[in-house]
Amino acid sequence: MGETKGRDDVIVLEDVGKSFGDFVAVERADFSIERGEFFAMLGPSGCGKTTTLKMIAGFEQPTRGRVILEGVDVSRTPPYKRNVNTVFQQYALFPHMTVTENIAFGPRSHRVPKETYEPRVREMLEVVRLEEFAARKPSQLSGGQQQRVALARALVNMPSALLLDEPLAALDLKLREAMQLELKRIQREVGITFVFVTHDQGEALTMSDRIAVMSQGRVEQIGSPEQIYHSPASLFVAGFIGSANLLPGEVTAHDGADAVVALASGGTIRARVAAPPAIGERVSVMLRPERLNATTEPASDHRSILGTVKELIFQGASTRLEAELADGTIIVAQMTDAEVPHIRPGSNVHVRWNPGAAFLIEGVPVTAGATNTDIDDVEASL
Ligand code: ATP
Repeated sequence: MGETKGRDDVIVLEDVGKSFGDFVAVERADFSIERGEFFAMLGPSGCGKTTTLKMIAGFEQPTRGRVILEGVDVSRTPPYKRNVNTVFQQYALFPHMTVTENIAFGPRSHRVPKETYEPRVREMLEVVRLEEFAARKPSQLSGGQQQRVALARALVNMPSALLLDEPLAALDLKLREAMQLELKRIQREVGITFVFVTHDQGEALTMSDRIAVMSQGRVEQIGSPEQIYHSPASLFVAGFIGSANLLPGEVTAHDGADAVVALASGGTIRARVAAPPAIGERVSVMLRPERLNATTEPASDHRSILGTVKELIFQGASTRLEAELADGTIIVAQMTDAEVPHIRPGSNVHVRWNPGAAFLIEGVPVTAGATNTDIDDVEASL
């Protein structure tokens, strides 16, 4: 991931690792974060994202490698001497101070002259849209408003980067979604680098310029939301971000851009590749459910697969189809424009897709077919 060097990087992690005794919390983080970027670290609980953030903030020291901030090695510098601010899940506002006093606290304690910080505090009140609430105490504010005060209080110090550790986790779903868009707007307005830790993939996709997907102390992939979603670098990334159908098979041919894969479930399909695979390699083809359609005729050019309709469920904006392949594998299509009138449970169906929708990933999944690790779906179904 050294390709990022040489840009206007605010934060550089050089081969950083962190162990607690024998336990490796972060195996290797080696990436850079650019000035003005909204960068998310995304992964399931325990993958090491908070530990990585803490090493940038200075609350943890790396056992290996260097943390570079604005070109200076800060690996051994205490948090208060680093020009970064952290916003935690608990906002820890001062309850006896007004909104304005809370925001002004940092510059005042750093003895910034009043005439310098006052306009900055006013500007921050405007940015977070709390001008009307300036004289209130935190207890007189909603959760979302308190969150904005916490943000303004951190941003007023003009840090090189703002570090956010699951800052929306304490908010309910509706407010969290509103605050995602709000955070993105605020970040654009102030132009400060945001580094955001979350386990919620929808949140990361909505807000980020780039996402680092982490699993078990390792960075699995860094890329734009589109790259991560449509061209996942591993089965873990494919399954963790959104829903996917993963079909194991073997590469029989490739021409650089596409590979032909003989599926374990029968049939042959063509899939886009990130790097040329080896002939005979065991791989998986990923098909996102919303890029699939179903028809009574096969598509040309190995862009369809034959199955039997198990379930067909009208869901308003789309229709969910579950189809069973010859070997019993179940795949799911979330169709917005299907030939539904001709498709019935029990009938044969050709599940098809447009060129480029099938993507090749190294390795084979434990369970073939549809995954559903969409955290929002899981939460909604509880
Ligand atoms: P979560 O979303 O649950 O906070 P995370 O991805 O942020 O997860 P980390 O907090 O970075 O995970 O922790 C990574 C691993 O390191 C976890 O298994 C955790 O138990 C372990 N760990 C973190 N801090 C310490 C510590 N001070 N001592 C020992 N182990 C630790």
